[in-house]
Amino acid sequence: MFDQLDVLPADPLLGLITLYNNDTNPKKVDLGVGVYRDEHGHTAIMQAIQKAEKIHMDKEDSKTYLGPIGVAGFVNGIKSLVLGESSQAVASGRVAGLQTPGGCGALRIGAELLKRIKGEVTVWASDPTWANHIPLISSAGLEIKSYPYFDAETGGIKFDAMDAKLAELGPNDILLLHGCCHNPTGADLSYEQWQQIAKRAAEQGFIPFVDIAYQGLGDGLEEDVKGVRYLSEHVEEMVIATSCSKNFGLYRERTGTLLVQTKSAENAHAIQTHVQDAARANYSMPPAYGGFLVDTVLQDPALRKEWEDELNSMAERVKSLRAGLLEKIQARDIDKDFSFIVEQKGMFSFLGISKEQVRKMREDYSIYMADSSRINVAGLNTECLDYVADALEAVLK
Ligand code: PMP
Repeated sequence: MFDQLDVLPADPLLGLITLYNNDTNPKKVDLGVGVYRDEHGHTAIMQAIQKAEKIHMDKEDSKTYLGPIGVAGFVNGIKSLVLGESSQAVASGRVAGLQTPGGCGALRIGAELLKRIKGEVTVWASDPTWANHIPLISSAGLEIKSYPYFDAETGGIKFDAMDAKLAELGPNDILLLHGCCHNPTGADLSYEQWQQIAKRAAEQGFIPFVDIAYQGLGDGLEEDVKGVRYLSEHVEEMVIATSCSKNFGLYRERTGTLLVQTKSAENAHAIQTHVQDAARANYSMPPAYGGFLVDTVLQDPALRKEWEDELNSMAERVKSLRAGLLEKIQARDIDKDFSFIVEQKGMFSFLGISKEQVRKMREDYSIYMADSSRINVAGLNTECLDYVADALEAVLK
């Protein structure tokens, strides 16, 4: 039986890690994998999380099962963090939710919920979108198609083309949106564009499905969710997948939530039973540890402040690297406008260079990035900016 399957091609990003690790060039730069890194290339455990680990360890006296919802206090904390302390939808009990194994688990359970309710629906994702959206959503049995999004000419969004596509959507369509810090492009919707999307969703009946994996890594914790909150206030129903991998640095602890905003507390109660049932059928219940840590941080004012400060300084570091890289590029003889680098939000940017140029950056300069020319800006540091700009100048000649 097991002789029937062939070896799958290697994941391109994981392949890059191997190439990078085997590269002996002391100047090598890893702009591939999407994790936050500090100035020394390290993905440290956040200070507030380290303190929460100690508090939790002293407190925890059992490892018994928690049930499919996971850490209930954590789920409530994330509802407030994303939808706001004063969210009417939350206050009126219209938002169902559960802890999931990362944002990926949330996307998968959300997709399964939609499949249960609607059967034949199409999920519309931005062109391009995060590569993992496609298997996560299609393996739940939903069709996934794309809407125009990134404008390679400007490094921004083709909103007119996107809006024209949205005009065709109706109640059997799901619109997948990146809440902030779009992965892979860094090109985010403006507040006015969120308003236009909300208007269409309310009028045409399609359901927004927001994936928010980088809250706080763009313009700040509150600023980054302005669009999502506007949607929540202006459409009755929506789905939200959140992740604590980046903004709490909990990657391997697999910590996320799925939130489902419904029309009534009664609907939310029914949906709660379904998402829990879907979780039970997949993995039974989520790993609890990350949920306990985030709950501890969010509930303790001093720890919460410490976390917010550290998160802000991470976002500031990325912004200053964006500005630094642009300055170095502009100081060179490069005949391409890279000013979009400072307009884009979060950890990623699309450099908009060809596959061949990406290959040269890697082979001639040991600068590693995805074939699409997506770079993880947090992989840069002040030391390497000149080197990266020199390499760009050379490959763009
Ligand atoms: N959505 C997007 C757009 C992401 O970039 C990520 C992380 N790479 C996730 C969701 C979820 O990640 P995780 O499952 O690690 O929380």
